Amino acid sequence: MTLSTDGISRDDVLAEMAAAATGDADWRSGKTWSLVYNAGPEVEAVSKAAYQAFFSSNALNPMAFPSLRRFETEVLENAAQLLHGTEAVGSMTTGGTESILMALKTARDWGRARGITAPEVVLPLSVHPAFDKAAHYLGLRAIYTPVGDDFRADVAAMRAAVSPNTVLLVGSAPSFPQGVIDDIPAIAALAEEHGALCHVDACVGGFFLPFLERIGEPVPAWDFRVPGVTSISADLHKYGYTARGASTILYRTRALRRHQFHVQTQWPGGLYGSPSMTGSRAGGPIAAAWAVQRFLGSAGYERLTRAAMDATRRLQEGIRAAGFRILGAPTMSVFSFTSDDMDIYALCDALEVVGWKLDRQQLPPAAHLMVSPGHVPYVEPFLADLNRAANQLRGGAPAPAGSAAMYAAMAMAPDRSMVSEMILGFMDSLDQR
Ligand SMILES: *Cc1c(COP(=O)(O)O)cnc(C)c1O
Repeated sequence: MTLSTDGISRDDVLAEMAAAATGDADWRSGKTWSLVYNAGPEVEAVSKAAYQAFFSSNALNPMAFPSLRRFETEVLENAAQLLHGTEAVGSMTTGGTESILMALKTARDWGRARGITAPEVVLPLSVHPAFDKAAHYLGLRAIYTPVGDDFRADVAAMRAAVSPNTVLLVGSAPSFPQGVIDDIPAIAALAEEHGALCHVDACVGGFFLPFLERIGEPVPAWDFRVPGVTSISADLHKYGYTARGASTILYRTRALRRHQFHVQTQWPGGLYGSPSMTGSRAGGPIAAAWAVQRFLGSAGYERLTRAAMDATRRLQEGIRAAGFRILGAPTMSVFSFTSDDMDIYALCDALEVVGWKLDRQQLPPAAHLMVSPGHVPYVEPFLADLNRAANQLRGGAPAPAGSAAMYAAMAMAPDRSMVSEMILGFMDSLDQR
């Protein structure tokens, strides 16, 4: 695009954009099993109205927008209560990745204050890539440990990886790949024993597990009730059902959060203090988060949690009945499945032909689902298509042309630098003319 001299009308702009979106993921019809967490049109309308009303507000200066300061404080207060952090405080961020960056920055600077100059963080292989990215950005050494047959962190391996330079141990509640909750009490106890910090990544579970527990489902211990857990990341824009661009990072104590902040006192532009990564902070996501939480209340979240869990159970039963295997013992609405008698990537391709978009996983190869209340009406249509596709592939029908061969090659390639080059090349090619 070259800027036109005179621009075009608002209607033409919007028409062009609507046309551009025709190929986008069709999440409203439940076709997408990741990326969008749909709680229905009412929640979406509340979120949008609040977002628009605070569209131009900037939380960079809390004195200029006391409304945003109040919304952020109250959203965080609510999160601290849900996670049972009696004295917990935190910050709102733009997403899980920023929350995790902040947790690692805090751990690094907390370690520096104790004289640790070459800080290390111990990470089960199942943690989200945001930890790898944060370690890379912040100059921390990431030490990876394997997961067990149940896909949960191997705590004995974590113990073996701890050194005097360890500033932080991490567990997930739950992990993204298989939706399993690590043994947080054991990881936190190990951290305490070594005088290190312990972060629980509840980006996906932080606003789901508390309500799952309230409706009487078994949830293993994972939050601030576990001694030794020092910080938790919990995303609002996932199962908090608020507008994208909203997450929380919480610390057990105010003293710990101090390591997250940054101040610059010499700037001619004025005295500058900033809590997190970003400078300007969009008002929309903060306002929308507050609005959705006020709108839903605990009964609203419990109802949505029940709906998502009910859909999850029906999906898991149907997937098992169709001859597939669920990986591990997932606690909530995030899980993956694989096959012992067919190429799971070919199945994903066959489902994609009829519009279903599932994420492909590796190590081991699997298909991944994140179930939202918006999926409730689409469970049976999905299972019908799954059975049809599986029967065709089992009957020897050729797999449709898709990405299966590429995924299989990448998943099995022993030379990961070749895979890395392929991904870099892909990213590089996105803007090629
Ligand atoms: C989504 C997710 C993240 C990263 O969050 P973003 O909002 O995508 O940056 C981190 N951890 C887990 C477990 C997640 O599911």
